[in-house]
Amino acid sequence: MFKLKSLPADAPRPVAASSTGCRKTGLAPSYLLRFDDLCPTMNWDVWRELETMLLEFSVRPILAVVPSNQDPDLMIQPARADFWSEVRKWQKRGWTIALHGYQHLALTAEAGVVGIAKRSEFAGLSAGLQEEKLRLALKIFAQEEIHPELWIAPAHSFDALTLLALRKLGFTTLSDGFALRPHRDENGMLWIPQQLWKFRWRPAGTWTVCCHHNSWRARDLSLFRKALQKYREQITDLPSVVALASLSQPSLRLIDGL
Ligand SMILES: [Zn+2]
Repeated sequence: MFKLKSLPADAPRPVAASSTGCRKTGLAPSYLLRFDDLCPTMNWDVWRELETMLLEFSVRPILAVVPSNQDPDLMIQPARADFWSEVRKWQKRGWTIALHGYQHLALTAEAGVVGIAKRSEFAGLSAGLQEEKLRLALKIFAQEEIHPELWIAPAHSFDALTLLALRKLGFTTLSDGFALRPHRDENGMLWIPQQLWKFRWRPAGTWTVCCHHNSWRARDLSLFRKALQKYREQITDLPSVVALASLSQPSLRLIDGL
């Protein structure tokens, strides 16, 4: 159990302002919303409903955008020619854009360092090939004036060489892993954990709920609306979590030692 009252009175307290102006400490539970597999051929019918809901509840999600999708599983509806102007609109709105691989293809059977699925677009490939693919992906984003704030691996699969290439190309944040709260690895990469695929009550920690809207139906949308109503006050956004991760480290370490 956390023993807040055991902290010295002058111990630093992590505080961040959410988009709604609520003050949250890093010790209360908070939820990040992440949507995967945004691409020109995604399920636009469901997305439009979702987008309306996110605006209604003033939630700023993380959107994992595929730069050049070649995965037939993500080809749900006809490609929209205005896809990138949509992405720019989301970015301008303050929603977080993540680089979600390059072509979203399963090229190896490697589960990588997280170990959820034995398929990867990156893990198991050479350092040179991984870096080349990341450069091609970033080139597309740059051409479209999209500025990714973090990395999200397709199938949660990446390896140590992916991490080195990401750092080399300027990435400092990724979304993955089952930790209770964000942490930095030895190379300075900030890992924002991603542990849930639907909202669940949790007593403490930072929880990322990963949604795959391409397969959603009407019932999923209505359940999602109910979850937003229930959890809205605990939903945060990536900039707040990143700011809090820096602020909170001293006091969190202190608490871990209690
Ligand atoms: Zn994906």
